[in-house]
Amino acid sequence: MIKTVVFDIDNTLYSFDRAHSAALEALISYAGQKLGMDRETFMSALKETQQRLEEYIGDKAAVHNRTIRFQNLLESRGLSLYPHVLEMDSVYWDTLIVSSVPSPGALETIKELKERGIRIGIGTDMTARVQFRKLEFLGLLPYVDFFVSSEEAGAEKPDPALFARCVEKAGCAAQECLFVGDNRKKDILGAREAGLRAVWYCPQGCPEEADTPVISDLRQLLRMPDIKFI
Ligand SMILES: [Mg+2]
Repeated sequence: MIKTVVFDIDNTLYSFDRAHSAALEALISYAGQKLGMDRETFMSALKETQQRLEEYIGDKAAVHNRTIRFQNLLESRGLSLYPHVLEMDSVYWDTLIVSSVPSPGALETIKELKERGIRIGIGTDMTARVQFRKLEFLGLLPYVDFFVSSEEAGAEKPDPALFARCVEKAGCAAQECLFVGDNRKKDILGAREAGLRAVWYCPQGCPEEADTPVISDLRQLLRMPDIKFI
């Protein structure tokens, strides 16, 4: 019996890929106008910076922190941190957030789960503040009972620490928690390894995986024959 459903955010509750593309275009335009960097130069500097930070930071939430990423890009190019670091951060996130659209059925599914007495959690790899901004903009935050970020857990999915923290906050047994996410390795295998049940969200369609229930629309969660909610 499922008592809690924990959702991933990016590419599950909204399309990160689409919103990120819009945010990147805004950033490229900023770099052209304010930093004198053309698209190719800026993109290559951003990629280099990201790779260096991935090696240095590893699997921790700070690896996604755009303030740190833009700060390091500016430092590596000998560019002034003021005013660019905070402006680039705002350009990126403000564009990404207003470009975010809830996944089809996200709101109605979460509302119906709540009406059935299911607790709603979030289990996300990222820094907390920006994820709350996304949930608020998407109109989903009022329905969220608890939230766990990799920033809080100190480790990224599929580390069991993040899932254990979700279960602790859910207040029920791990097998009474259902995790819903788009990433097989991080969300599905991670959740199952930690004892939770899992459903793989694949809006574009996924290869058949006999051991994992797959949905292409979040509304399908409400009518899965082998998942019984309280
Ligand atoms: Mg995701």
